[in-house]
Amino acid sequence: MEMESLQDLFVDQLKDLYNAENQIIKALPKMIKKASAPELKDAFARHLEVTKGQVDRLEQVFEAFGEKAKGKTCKAMKGIIEEASDTMKEDAEPEVLDAALIAECQRVEHYEIAGYGTVRAYAELLGNKQAAKLLQQTLDEEGEADKKLTSLAETLINVEAQA
Ligand code: FE
Ligand code: ZN
Ligand code: FE
Ligand code: FE
Repeated sequence: MEMESLQDLFVDQLKDLYNAENQIIKALPKMIKKASAPELKDAFARHLEVTKGQVDRLEQVFEAFGEKAKGKTCKAMKGIIEEASDTMKEDAEPEVLDAALIAECQRVEHYEIAGYGTVRAYAELLGNKQAAKLLQQTLDEEGEADKKLTSLAETLINVEAQA
């Protein structure tokens, strides 16, 4: 892969995110199944729908730069999801497993927040306001998902795991 310009780097980072989002779309249904608290199942299910929209946005951003939407294996997301699968294989109390699922999912959200913050900044610098706006929308959604998980953990899930 050629890495001669910020735009090359930008496209490379988009491919990483595109692959990461698609890995998340595959992983979330398993997490929905494994979660016990209806509130947590619901939060995961909502984020799955939101994530599908994020893939569409990435496709629009590729297009805005005259590139074909293509992924490149995100090894970091693969690792985070592997940790989540290991967790789901543990013989855990349902309430404790719910807390563990939140811990894993927040790692996912923080990885995405880092990635989208970077590409949003590159898109701005590259002068593509529309792409920057689309990426900011996704960045906001990832932040909302993270906050939602924090609030669920603090008000309900961690408390029940501790009981
Ligand atoms: Fe996402
Ligand atoms: Zn990655
Ligand atoms: Fe780790
Ligand atoms: Fe997310």
